[in-house]
Amino acid sequence: MNNCIFCKIVNGECPSYKIYEDDKVYAFLDIACDAVGHTLVVPKKHFCNVMDCDREYLDAVIDAVQKIADHYVKDCGYDGVNIFNASGASAEQSVFHLHFHVIPRKSGDGMRMWPLNEKYDIDLAEVCKKLAL
Ligand code: AMP
Repeated sequence: MNNCIFCKIVNGECPSYKIYEDDKVYAFLDIACDAVGHTLVVPKKHFCNVMDCDREYLDAVIDAVQKIADHYVKDCGYDGVNIFNASGASAEQSVFHLHFHVIPRKSGDGMRMWPLNEKYDIDLAEVCKKLAL
């Protein structure tokens, strides 16, 4: 897609630090430099987010996420990973080409990944009635 930074990375028009590649997926280091090894895993075909991604590509991306996570833990000295995806502007997606963040973690690394939101008085039964598929 024209003007999509991740399409340009996939096509080699913009530089990236490649971590993994196969016929449907490309993974590279995030430039944020907020965590060592922060990795982005993207489909080579342009999709906006998980809602419009076709099954074939979503499966391929998830397979790659698992491979990379496994590699970081088995071969690179990490103990675990966080895996994040933002789908939609309200979810704080900033680049509108589907991507999963893989953030390698070590015990005691001091990073906090979960938002420290307040607890609310939520009626789980009501929420479930509204959201169940
Ligand atoms: P999100 O906010 O979930 O859409 O994540 C977008 C991510 O893309 C951010 O973490 C950015 O740091 C990252 N990013 C944006 N441009 C580039 C780039 N040229 N190379 C690598 N990562 C990028």
